[in-house]
Amino acid sequence: MMPFSQLVLASHNAGKLKELQAMLGGSVQVRSVAEFSLEEPEETGLSFIENAILKARNAARLSGLPALADDSGLAVDFLGGAPGIYSARYADGQGDAANNAKLLEALKDVPDAQRGAQFVCCLALVRHADDPLPIICEGLWHGQILHAARGEHGFGYDPLFWVAERNCSSAELPSAEKNQISHRARAMALLKQRLGLA
Ligand code: IMP
Repeated sequence: MMPFSQLVLASHNAGKLKELQAMLGGSVQVRSVAEFSLEEPEETGLSFIENAILKARNAARLSGLPALADDSGLAVDFLGGAPGIYSARYADGQGDAANNAKLLEALKDVPDAQRGAQFVCCLALVRHADDPLPIICEGLWHGQILHAARGEHGFGYDPLFWVAERNCSSAELPSAEKNQISHRARAMALLKQRLGLA
């Protein structure tokens, strides 16, 4: 059972809000942090978990409601986990195409066996701003970084992420299919279990 009837999502992304509301069904009303403030906290953590908790606490503080945040990105083995928490701004804010070009350059001449990577999604739920026991759910999606972009779906690093179990890049997967097996889907499934909704 959900211990509360409302939840604020620490994101300005309407798509994420819709997805989360669908997942939680009618048992809880999901509100956007944008209703309370347009200010976003500085993401000063060094890990996905730290940044997710930081965002969740900030949203709970602004709204006075329980808050859920997610932090996601791509961690490449050969690069010691980079771009990691800096995935969105890897190429200094120049966008997805520049991020992908920078990643391909960083892995130039790196053989297939050393091109392993994972998409990471970390969800943090706090019941209030100072909650000492946040619920943390992490989803990993293992793959390999391609030598060139493939596919038109998705966003971010999807065109460079080879999904061995489907024999295609994640940008070649229709979004409904990606949303069943991705890092985000895995983290969401865990959250659902933790909330007794699965
Ligand atoms: P955010 O959590 O939506 O801010 O995502 C952080 C960044 O990680 C995005 O800007 C993308 O660069 C990357 N990323 C996270 N999830 C995905 C995904 O499912 N596909 C491709 N890139 C992703």
